[in-house]
Amino acid sequence: MSADYIYEKEVTGDKELEKAFRKQINTWAKSVPNHPYKNLGDQIQVTAIFYKPAYPIRLLTQYESRSKNSGHEPFENQKIPPRSIFRLEDFNSWDISLPDIETFTDKTSNYYVDGSQYVMDCFKCKANGWITCPQCQGRREVTCPNCTGAGRVTCGSCGGGGYHRCSSCGGNGKISRTVTRDRQVTRYNSGGQPYTATESYTTTVSDSCSRCGGRGQLTCSSCNGNGKVVCSRCRGRGLVTCPAYSGMGRITCPVCQGHKQLMYYFYVERALEYSDKNTCVVHENIYNTFPEFLDNYSDYESYNLMSITKNTIKQGFYRKGII
Ligand SMILES: [Zn+2]
Ligand SMILES: [Zn+2]
Ligand SMILES: [Zn+2]
Ligand SMILES: [Zn+2]
Ligand SMILES: [Zn+2]
Repeated sequence: MSADYIYEKEVTGDKELEKAFRKQINTWAKSVPNHPYKNLGDQIQVTAIFYKPAYPIRLLTQYESRSKNSGHEPFENQKIPPRSIFRLEDFNSWDISLPDIETFTDKTSNYYVDGSQYVMDCFKCKANGWITCPQCQGRREVTCPNCTGAGRVTCGSCGGGGYHRCSSCGGNGKISRTVTRDRQVTRYNSGGQPYTATESYTTTVSDSCSRCGGRGQLTCSSCNGNGKVVCSRCRGRGLVTCPAYSGMGRITCPVCQGHKQLMYYFYVERALEYSDKNTCVVHENIYNTFPEFLDNYSDYESYNLMSITKNTIKQGFYRKGII
């Protein structure tokens, strides 16, 4: 261990340090409510001071794993090197030179294995560049989604009932009105003799609604009473042009994307993963007295004694034969 490493050192009598401790203790004591020892730091007696330094260590580790795979993609006149690799067993993924890892990273990338590429006709479209449209099976038309092929849809005006309630009579078919009429009544004069008098009274009568002819409802003018109207989307045909590829009935081959041929190849998948571990080497007394030390050590005053950083892995460190 270098002389710079201090495990424990007595510094009793360092007045500046003692002053700083008293101040810290005062601050802490003031932060605790409901006690009379607000300046506890001034009242205690310091018998000894020891340095017991902590050594925080940050360890970054980069892991790399590789796998061998086969793939294909549309052939777009990519440069094809002479073929020398025919099977996955013909190469070792750790012999492939890949770009250096510049920084610690979590990333997965694929790399072509040069010498493995070859070109073949597309298996999906038999080198046509297109396939029959899967939506219309080549018929160029599909069932109208608006009417599901029926050609007619429920009338939006009457909700399919074919009628509207008559607003004049509120659906009763009758309209009430109040009339005043006269009637004969018998009355008595002051001598107790009866006589006949005329008296007015009001009453309610009902007439049949003239607007709806007493039916209470009116035929829907949008659908003429049958509750359905012609579908506007397909104009009653029940079919619409296939929405895929402007109704051509065929689509560009999704495998070769119209290029008719495919380039097959092997590739190495490189998965990079890193871990970042903080750890702390401290005097056992610190662990015992302040078990929360590790959670808080970044808040404590510290300075760097030594730093070793290696963030680039060079070729040649790989173990051979691991796939
Ligand atoms: Zn189609
Ligand atoms: Zn209607
Ligand atoms: Zn009416
Ligand atoms: Zn329709
Ligand atoms: Zn194809």
